[in-house]
Amino acid sequence: SVAPTGAALDAAVLESDHASVFHSWSAQAHLPSFVVAGGERCTLWDHAGNRWLDFSSQLVNVNIGYQHPRVVTAIKEQADLLTTISPATANATRAKAAKKILRQLPDSFQKIFFTNAGADANENAIRMARLFTGRDKVVSRYRSYHGNTGAAIAATGDWRRIPNEYSRGHVHVFGPYEYRSEFWAESPEQECERALQHLERTIQCEGPESIAAILLETIPGTAGVIVPPPGYLAGVRAIADRYGIVLILDEVMSGFGRTGSWFAFDDHDVIPDLVTFAKGVNSGYVPAGGVAISARIARAFDERVFPGGLTYSGHPLAMAAIVATLDTMRDERIVENAALVGKQVIGPALAELAESNRLVGDVRGTGVFWAIELVEDKGSKAPLPAAQMAEIKQQLFSRGLVPFISDNRIHIVPPCVVSAVEASAGLSIVADVLNELAEAPA
Ligand code: PLP
Repeated sequence: SVAPTGAALDAAVLESDHASVFHSWSAQAHLPSFVVAGGERCTLWDHAGNRWLDFSSQLVNVNIGYQHPRVVTAIKEQADLLTTISPATANATRAKAAKKILRQLPDSFQKIFFTNAGADANENAIRMARLFTGRDKVVSRYRSYHGNTGAAIAATGDWRRIPNEYSRGHVHVFGPYEYRSEFWAESPEQECERALQHLERTIQCEGPESIAAILLETIPGTAGVIVPPPGYLAGVRAIADRYGIVLILDEVMSGFGRTGSWFAFDDHDVIPDLVTFAKGVNSGYVPAGGVAISARIARAFDERVFPGGLTYSGHPLAMAAIVATLDTMRDERIVENAALVGKQVIGPALAELAESNRLVGDVRGTGVFWAIELVEDKGSKAPLPAAQMAEIKQQLFSRGLVPFISDNRIHIVPPCVVSAVEASAGLSIVADVLNELAEAPA
Protein backbone atom coordinates (compact mmCIF):
# COMPACT_ATOMS: atom_id res chain seq x y z
CA SER A 1 0.00 0.00 0.00
CA VAL A 2 1.07 3.61 -0.59
CA ALA A 3 1.85 5.75 2.46
CA PRO A 4 -0.73 8.55 2.82
CA THR A 5 0.25 12.16 2.15
CA GLY A 6 -1.41 15.57 2.45
CA ALA A 7 -4.87 15.68 4.02
CA ALA A 8 -5.00 11.86 4.19
CA LEU A 9 -1.82 11.88 6.27
CA ASP A 10 -3.31 14.51 8.60
CA ALA A 11 -6.36 12.27 9.08
CA ALA A 12 -4.16 9.22 9.72
CA VAL A 13 -2.07 11.11 12.28
CA LEU A 14 -5.20 12.27 14.09
CA GLU A 15 -6.59 8.76 14.16
CA SER A 16 -3.45 7.18 15.59
CA ASP A 17 -3.00 10.06 18.05
CA HIS A 18 -6.51 9.66 19.40
CA ALA A 19 -6.10 5.89 19.61
CA SER A 20 -2.89 5.94 21.67
CA VAL A 21 -1.92 9.32 23.15
CA PHE A 22 -3.35 10.36 26.53
CA HIS A 23 -3.57 14.17 26.43
CA SER A 24 -2.98 16.79 29.15
CA TRP A 25 -5.89 18.59 30.86
CA SER A 26 -8.41 16.81 28.62
CA ALA A 27 -11.36 14.49 28.74
CA GLN A 28 -10.02 11.81 26.41
CA ALA A 29 -13.18 11.58 24.32
CA HIS A 30 -12.75 15.24 23.33
CA LEU A 31 -9.31 15.65 21.84
CA PRO A 32 -7.76 18.37 19.71
CA SER A 33 -7.84 18.14 15.93
CA PHE A 34 -4.82 20.30 15.05
CA VAL A 35 -2.07 18.38 13.23
CA VAL A 36 1.28 20.14 12.96
CA ALA A 37 3.75 18.84 10.41
CA GLY A 38 6.33 21.62 10.64
CA GLY A 39 7.07 25.24 11.37
CA GLU A 40 9.41 28.14 10.80
CA ARG A 41 9.68 31.40 12.77
CA CYS A 42 6.04 32.35 13.49
CA THR A 43 4.36 30.00 11.00
CA LEU A 44 3.07 26.43 11.37
CA TRP A 45 1.71 24.08 8.72
CA ASP A 46 0.02 20.71 8.44
CA HIS A 47 0.69 17.92 5.93
CA ALA A 48 -2.01 19.24 3.60
CA GLY A 49 -0.14 22.55 3.32
CA ASN A 50 -2.50 24.72 5.37
CA ARG A 51 -0.53 27.46 7.12
CA TRP A 52 -1.15 29.36 10.34
CA LEU A 53 0.37 32.42 11.96
CA ASP A 54 1.12 31.44 15.55
CA PHE A 55 -0.21 33.99 18.06
CA SER A 56 0.21 31.51 20.95
CA SER A 57 3.91 30.55 20.87
CA GLN A 58 2.37 27.14 21.74
CA LEU A 59 2.18 27.34 25.55
CA VAL A 60 3.79 30.79 25.45
CA ASN A 61 7.22 29.21 25.22
CA VAL A 62 8.53 29.44 21.64
CA ASN A 63 9.98 32.93 22.12
CA ILE A 64 12.62 32.55 19.41
CA GLY A 65 10.18 31.08 16.86
CA TYR A 66 10.25 27.65 15.24
CA GLN A 67 13.42 26.02 13.93
CA HIS A 68 15.88 28.84 14.44
CA PRO A 69 18.79 27.45 12.40
CA ARG A 70 21.43 28.53 14.91
CA VAL A 71 19.74 26.69 17.79
CA VAL A 72 19.01 23.62 15.66
CA THR A 73 22.68 23.49 14.61
CA ALA A 74 23.88 23.84 18.21
CA ILE A 75 21.70 20.89 19.26
CA LYS A 76 23.05 18.78 16.37
CA GLU A 77 26.65 19.67 17.20
CA GLN A 78 26.13 18.81 20.86
CA ALA A 79 24.47 15.53 19.81
CA ASP A 80 27.62 14.62 17.89
CA LEU A 81 29.78 15.49 20.90
CA LEU A 82 27.87 14.09 23.87
CA THR A 83 24.11 13.50 24.07
CA THR A 84 23.80 12.81 27.80
CA ILE A 85 25.79 13.03 31.01
CA SER A 86 24.99 12.83 34.72
CA PRO A 87 24.45 16.02 36.72
CA ALA A 88 27.22 14.89 39.07
CA THR A 89 29.83 15.62 36.40
CA ALA A 90 31.23 18.98 35.33
CA ASN A 91 30.38 19.75 31.73
CA ALA A 92 31.49 22.69 29.60
CA THR A 93 28.10 23.31 27.92
CA ARG A 94 26.26 23.24 31.25
CA ALA A 95 28.68 25.70 32.85
CA LYS A 96 28.38 27.98 29.85
CA ALA A 97 24.55 27.89 29.98
CA ALA A 98 24.58 28.78 33.69
CA LYS A 99 26.96 31.69 33.11
CA LYS A 100 24.85 33.08 30.27
CA ILE A 101 21.67 32.98 32.35
CA LEU A 102 23.43 34.64 35.30
CA ARG A 103 24.68 37.37 32.99
CA GLN A 104 21.08 38.51 32.44
CA LEU A 105 20.30 38.60 36.18
CA PRO A 106 21.19 41.10 38.93
CA ASP A 107 24.64 40.68 40.54
CA SER A 108 23.10 39.18 43.69
CA PHE A 109 22.51 35.91 41.78
CA GLN A 110 25.29 33.33 41.94
CA LYS A 111 24.18 29.84 40.88
CA ILE A 112 21.75 27.99 38.63
CA PHE A 113 20.04 24.71 39.54
CA PHE A 114 18.80 23.12 36.34
CA THR A 115 15.52 21.21 36.12
CA ASN A 116 13.52 19.62 33.31
CA ALA A 117 10.77 22.25 33.15
CA GLY A 118 8.91 24.99 35.01
CA ALA A 119 6.97 22.87 37.51
CA ASP A 120 10.06 21.22 38.97
CA ALA A 121 11.81 24.61 39.01
CA ASN A 122 9.09 25.86 41.35
CA GLU A 123 9.15 22.57 43.25
CA ASN A 124 12.86 22.96 43.98
CA ALA A 125 12.68 26.70 44.67
CA ILE A 126 10.00 26.01 47.30
CA ARG A 127 12.20 23.28 48.78
CA MET A 128 15.19 25.62 48.92
CA ALA A 129 13.13 28.30 50.65
CA ARG A 130 11.86 25.76 53.20
CA LEU A 131 15.35 24.46 53.94
CA PHE A 132 16.83 27.96 54.07
CA THR A 133 14.23 29.35 56.47
CA GLY A 134 13.35 26.20 58.41
CA ARG A 135 9.72 27.16 57.78
CA ASP A 136 6.94 25.43 55.94
CA LYS A 137 4.15 27.54 54.40
CA VAL A 138 4.14 29.13 50.98
CA VAL A 139 2.01 32.16 50.15
CA SER A 140 0.94 32.44 46.52
CA ARG A 141 -1.99 33.89 44.58
CA TYR A 142 -5.39 32.60 43.54
CA ARG A 143 -4.81 33.96 40.06
CA SER A 144 -1.75 31.90 39.22
CA TYR A 145 -0.36 28.77 37.63
CA HIS A 146 2.94 27.32 38.85
CA GLY A 147 3.05 23.83 37.29
CA ASN A 148 1.69 20.32 37.52
CA THR A 149 3.72 18.64 40.31
CA GLY A 150 3.23 18.28 44.09
CA ALA A 151 4.04 21.66 45.64
CA ALA A 152 3.78 23.55 42.32
CA ILE A 153 0.15 22.54 41.72
CA ALA A 154 -0.70 23.15 45.39
CA ALA A 155 0.79 26.65 45.05
CA THR A 156 -1.23 27.23 41.87
CA GLY A 157 -4.36 29.27 42.42
CA ASP A 158 -6.56 28.43 39.44
CA TRP A 159 -9.07 25.55 39.11
CA ARG A 160 -6.33 23.04 38.33
CA ARG A 161 -5.22 23.06 41.98
CA ILE A 162 -8.50 21.86 43.45
CA PRO A 163 -8.61 18.24 42.19
CA ASN A 164 -4.86 17.87 42.92
CA GLU A 165 -4.63 19.38 46.39
CA TYR A 166 -2.99 16.72 48.55
CA SER A 167 -0.25 18.66 50.35
CA ARG A 168 -0.59 21.13 53.20
CA GLY A 169 1.38 24.26 53.79
CA HIS A 170 -0.08 26.48 51.07
CA VAL A 171 -1.90 29.76 51.57
CA HIS A 172 -3.43 31.88 48.81
CA VAL A 173 -4.08 35.59 48.53
CA PHE A 174 -5.57 37.95 45.95
CA GLY A 175 -3.16 40.09 44.04
CA PRO A 176 -3.84 43.42 42.39
CA TYR A 177 -6.17 43.20 39.36
CA GLU A 178 -7.48 46.62 38.53
CA TYR A 179 -10.17 45.53 36.07
CA ARG A 180 -11.83 43.22 38.59
CA SER A 181 -10.62 44.62 41.89
CA GLU A 182 -11.16 42.39 44.92
CA PHE A 183 -10.51 45.48 47.06
CA TRP A 184 -13.17 47.93 45.81
CA ALA A 185 -10.28 50.09 44.63
CA GLU A 186 -10.81 52.97 42.25
CA SER A 187 -7.23 53.70 41.26
CA PRO A 188 -4.02 51.73 40.72
CA GLU A 189 -2.60 53.35 43.87
CA GLN A 190 -5.53 52.13 45.98
CA GLU A 191 -5.37 48.67 44.39
CA CYS A 192 -1.67 48.45 45.18
CA GLU A 193 -1.96 49.68 48.75
CA ARG A 194 -4.92 47.43 49.59
CA ALA A 195 -3.42 44.32 47.95
CA LEU A 196 -0.27 44.84 50.02
CA GLN A 197 -2.31 45.34 53.19
CA HIS A 198 -4.24 42.11 52.44
CA LEU A 199 -0.96 40.20 51.87
CA GLU A 200 0.61 41.49 55.07
CA ARG A 201 -2.50 40.79 57.17
CA THR A 202 -2.67 37.24 55.76
CA ILE A 203 0.97 36.67 56.70
CA GLN A 204 0.38 38.02 60.22
CA CYS A 205 -2.68 35.80 60.68
CA GLU A 206 -0.93 32.69 59.33
CA GLY A 207 2.07 33.33 61.64
CA PRO A 208 5.07 34.91 59.92
CA GLU A 209 7.44 32.44 61.62
CA SER A 210 5.70 29.61 59.71
CA ILE A 211 6.09 31.15 56.24
CA ALA A 212 9.05 30.11 54.09
CA ALA A 213 8.25 31.82 50.80
CA ILE A 214 6.10 34.19 48.88
CA LEU A 215 5.83 32.71 45.36
CA LEU A 216 4.48 35.00 42.64
CA GLU A 217 4.42 35.08 38.89
CA THR A 218 5.94 38.51 38.26
CA ILE A 219 3.09 39.03 35.78
CA PRO A 220 0.41 36.34 36.18
CA GLY A 221 0.32 34.78 32.69
CA THR A 222 -2.33 32.16 32.03
CA ALA A 223 -4.43 33.89 34.69
CA GLY A 224 -4.74 36.89 32.38
CA VAL A 225 -1.49 38.82 31.84
CA ILE A 226 -2.20 40.92 34.92
CA VAL A 227 0.54 43.55 35.00
CA PRO A 228 0.99 44.69 38.62
CA PRO A 229 0.56 48.39 39.42
CA PRO A 230 3.73 50.38 40.12
CA GLY A 231 5.01 49.75 43.63
CA TYR A 232 3.28 46.41 44.22
CA LEU A 233 6.28 44.12 43.81
CA ALA A 234 8.57 46.53 45.67
CA GLY A 235 5.97 46.46 48.45
CA VAL A 236 5.96 42.64 48.45
CA ARG A 237 9.77 42.70 48.70
CA ALA A 238 9.54 44.98 51.76
CA ILE A 239 7.00 42.65 53.41
CA ALA A 240 9.16 39.59 52.69
CA ASP A 241 12.15 41.37 54.28
CA ARG A 242 10.12 42.48 57.28
CA TYR A 243 9.22 38.86 58.13
CA GLY A 244 12.33 37.00 56.93
CA ILE A 245 10.45 35.35 54.04
CA VAL A 246 12.14 34.22 50.80
CA LEU A 247 10.74 35.95 47.69
CA ILE A 248 10.47 33.61 44.69
CA LEU A 249 9.46 35.15 41.37
CA ASP A 250 8.14 32.69 38.80
CA GLU A 251 9.42 33.91 35.43
CA VAL A 252 8.61 30.66 33.62
CA MET A 253 6.22 32.40 31.22
CA SER A 254 7.27 36.05 31.61
CA GLY A 255 11.05 35.55 31.35
CA PHE A 256 13.48 35.68 28.44
CA GLY A 257 12.03 38.42 26.30
CA ARG A 258 8.29 37.88 26.57
CA THR A 259 7.65 41.28 28.22
CA GLY A 260 10.17 43.16 26.08
CA SER A 261 12.75 42.84 28.87
CA TRP A 262 14.95 39.88 29.76
CA PHE A 263 12.90 39.35 32.91
CA ALA A 264 9.54 40.89 33.79
CA PHE A 265 10.88 41.99 37.18
CA ASP A 266 13.50 44.18 35.46
CA ASP A 267 10.72 46.75 35.04
CA HIS A 268 9.34 46.55 38.59
CA ASP A 269 11.95 47.84 40.98
CA VAL A 270 12.34 44.51 42.79
CA ILE A 271 15.08 41.92 43.18
CA PRO A 272 13.87 38.48 44.28
CA ASP A 273 15.86 35.83 46.19
CA LEU A 274 15.05 33.02 43.76
CA VAL A 275 13.90 33.15 40.14
CA THR A 276 12.30 30.16 38.43
CA PHE A 277 12.48 29.88 34.66
CA ALA A 278 11.85 27.43 31.77
CA LYS A 279 9.97 27.96 28.45
CA GLY A 280 11.74 30.93 26.80
CA VAL A 281 15.20 30.03 28.13
CA ASN A 282 15.57 27.80 25.06
CA SER A 283 12.09 28.06 23.58
CA GLY A 284 11.42 24.43 24.47
CA TYR A 285 13.63 23.08 21.69
CA VAL A 286 14.82 20.61 24.36
CA PRO A 287 12.94 20.57 27.70
CA ALA A 288 14.69 22.63 30.39
CA GLY A 289 14.02 24.83 33.38
CA GLY A 290 15.79 25.96 36.48
CA VAL A 291 16.16 28.03 39.60
CA ALA A 292 18.45 31.06 39.71
CA ILE A 293 19.77 31.29 43.25
CA SER A 294 20.98 34.44 45.01
CA ALA A 295 24.37 34.22 46.75
CA ARG A 296 22.76 34.45 50.18
CA ILE A 297 20.78 31.25 49.62
CA ALA A 298 23.40 29.46 47.52
CA ARG A 299 25.96 29.90 50.34
CA ALA A 300 23.61 28.18 52.81
CA PHE A 301 24.29 24.99 50.87
CA ASP A 302 28.09 25.33 50.75
CA GLU A 303 28.56 22.81 53.54
CA ARG A 304 25.03 21.51 53.85
CA VAL A 305 23.76 18.96 51.34
CA PHE A 306 20.90 20.15 49.13
CA PRO A 307 18.59 17.12 49.26
CA GLY A 308 17.31 17.27 45.70
CA GLY A 309 18.26 16.34 42.15
CA LEU A 310 17.13 15.04 38.77
CA THR A 311 18.74 12.53 36.40
CA TYR A 312 18.54 15.02 33.55
CA SER A 313 19.47 18.20 35.45
CA GLY A 314 21.61 20.19 33.04
CA HIS A 315 21.09 17.79 30.12
CA PRO A 316 23.70 18.62 27.44
CA LEU A 317 21.22 18.93 24.55
CA ALA A 318 19.06 21.32 26.59
CA MET A 319 22.16 23.24 27.67
CA ALA A 320 23.40 23.60 24.10
CA ALA A 321 19.97 24.90 23.14
CA ILE A 322 20.11 27.45 26.00
CA VAL A 323 23.57 28.72 25.01
CA ALA A 324 22.59 29.15 21.35
CA THR A 325 19.19 30.67 22.21
CA LEU A 326 20.61 33.31 24.54
CA ASP A 327 23.43 34.18 22.12
CA THR A 328 20.93 34.50 19.27
CA MET A 329 18.54 36.60 21.32
CA ARG A 330 21.35 39.05 22.10
CA ASP A 331 22.84 39.11 18.60
CA GLU A 332 19.50 39.50 16.83
CA ARG A 333 18.11 41.92 19.44
CA ILE A 334 15.05 39.74 19.88
CA VAL A 335 14.14 41.16 23.29
CA GLU A 336 14.29 44.67 21.85
CA ASN A 337 12.08 43.51 18.97
CA ALA A 338 9.46 42.23 21.43
CA ALA A 339 9.47 45.59 23.22
CA LEU A 340 9.16 47.55 19.97
CA VAL A 341 6.36 45.44 18.45
CA GLY A 342 4.46 45.70 21.74
CA LYS A 343 4.83 49.44 21.92
CA GLN A 344 4.33 50.33 18.26
CA VAL A 345 1.91 47.69 16.99
CA ILE A 346 0.14 45.51 19.57
CA GLY A 347 -0.51 48.14 22.25
CA PRO A 348 -2.02 50.76 19.89
CA ALA A 349 -4.10 48.16 17.95
CA LEU A 350 -5.58 46.75 21.15
CA ALA A 351 -6.28 50.20 22.58
CA GLU A 352 -8.25 51.00 19.44
CA LEU A 353 -10.15 47.71 19.64
CA ALA A 354 -11.02 48.37 23.30
CA GLU A 355 -12.38 51.76 22.29
CA SER A 356 -14.44 50.59 19.31
CA ASN A 357 -15.68 47.09 20.16
CA ARG A 358 -18.48 46.61 22.67
CA LEU A 359 -17.26 43.15 23.69
CA VAL A 360 -13.74 44.22 24.70
CA GLY A 361 -13.81 44.99 28.41
CA ASP A 362 -10.09 45.40 29.00
CA VAL A 363 -6.76 45.10 27.21
CA ARG A 364 -3.45 44.98 29.02
CA GLY A 365 0.12 43.85 28.60
CA THR A 366 3.64 44.67 27.54
CA GLY A 367 6.06 43.40 24.90
CA VAL A 368 4.52 40.35 23.22
CA PHE A 369 2.51 39.47 26.34
CA TRP A 370 -1.07 40.83 26.12
CA ALA A 371 -4.64 39.86 26.98
CA ILE A 372 -7.98 40.96 25.56
CA GLU A 373 -10.71 40.42 28.11
CA LEU A 374 -14.11 39.84 26.50
CA VAL A 375 -17.38 40.68 28.22
CA GLU A 376 -21.07 40.52 27.39
CA ASP A 377 -21.44 44.12 28.36
CA LYS A 378 -18.92 46.72 29.50
CA GLY A 379 -21.10 47.88 32.39
CA SER A 380 -21.66 44.49 34.08
CA LYS A 381 -18.26 43.08 32.96
CA ALA A 382 -19.94 39.64 32.77
CA PRO A 383 -17.38 37.35 31.09
CA LEU A 384 -18.22 36.27 27.54
CA PRO A 385 -19.64 32.71 27.87
CA ALA A 386 -17.55 29.64 27.01
CA ALA A 387 -19.67 28.80 23.93
CA GLN A 388 -18.86 32.16 22.36
CA MET A 389 -15.19 31.84 23.26
CA ALA A 390 -15.16 28.45 21.52
CA GLU A 391 -16.74 30.06 18.44
CA ILE A 392 -14.08 32.82 18.45
CA LYS A 393 -11.34 30.21 18.71
CA GLN A 394 -12.76 28.31 15.76
CA GLN A 395 -13.11 31.49 13.69
CA LEU A 396 -9.54 32.63 14.36
CA PHE A 397 -8.22 29.20 13.56
CA SER A 398 -10.15 28.90 10.31
CA ARG A 399 -8.75 32.29 9.19
CA GLY A 400 -5.18 31.15 9.69
CA LEU A 401 -4.36 32.24 13.24
CA VAL A 402 -3.40 29.98 16.16
CA PRO A 403 -4.81 31.75 19.23
CA PHE A 404 -4.16 31.32 22.95
CA ILE A 405 -7.56 31.36 24.64
CA SER A 406 -7.98 31.21 28.40
CA ASP A 407 -11.41 31.63 30.05
CA ASN A 408 -12.97 34.76 28.54
CA ARG A 409 -9.69 36.07 27.16
CA ILE A 410 -7.65 36.01 23.97
CA HIS A 411 -3.98 36.26 24.88
CA ILE A 412 -1.84 37.93 22.22
CA VAL A 413 1.42 36.06 22.69
CA PRO A 414 3.29 35.55 19.39
CA PRO A 415 6.96 34.57 19.34
CA CYS A 416 9.29 37.44 20.34
CA VAL A 417 10.68 37.43 16.79
CA VAL A 418 7.30 38.44 15.31
CA SER A 419 7.63 41.25 12.77
CA ALA A 420 5.49 44.37 12.78
CA VAL A 421 3.86 43.16 9.55
CA GLU A 422 3.02 39.75 10.98
CA ALA A 423 1.72 41.28 14.21
CA SER A 424 -0.52 43.69 12.25
CA ALA A 425 -1.82 40.86 10.07
CA GLY A 426 -2.69 38.71 13.10
CA LEU A 427 -4.30 41.61 14.93
CA SER A 428 -6.47 42.35 11.87
CA ILE A 429 -7.79 38.80 11.97
CA VAL A 430 -8.57 39.18 15.68
CA ALA A 431 -10.30 42.55 15.08
CA ASP A 432 -12.35 41.17 12.16
CA VAL A 433 -13.61 38.22 14.17
CA LEU A 434 -14.47 40.34 17.22
CA ASN A 435 -16.11 43.08 15.15
CA GLU A 436 -18.27 40.57 13.27
CA LEU A 437 -19.32 39.03 16.57
CA ALA A 438 -20.08 42.43 18.11
CA GLU A 439 -22.21 43.40 15.14
CA ALA A 440 -24.06 40.09 14.83
CA PRO A 441 -27.66 40.18 16.07
CA ALA A 442 -27.86 38.77 19.63
N1 PLP B 1 4.97 28.64 35.93
C1 PLP B 1 4.30 29.38 35.03
C2 PLP B 1 4.12 30.84 35.25
C3 PLP B 1 3.78 28.75 33.88
O1 PLP B 1 3.10 29.48 32.99
C4 PLP B 1 3.99 27.36 33.71
C5 PLP B 1 3.46 26.67 32.51
O2 PLP B 1 2.60 27.16 31.82
C6 PLP B 1 4.70 26.65 34.68
C7 PLP B 1 5.18 27.33 35.79
C8 PLP B 1 4.95 25.19 34.54
O3 PLP B 1 5.89 24.96 33.58
P1 PLP B 1 6.04 23.50 32.89
O4 PLP B 1 4.78 23.25 32.16
O5 PLP B 1 7.25 23.66 32.03
O6 PLP B 1 6.27 22.53 34.00
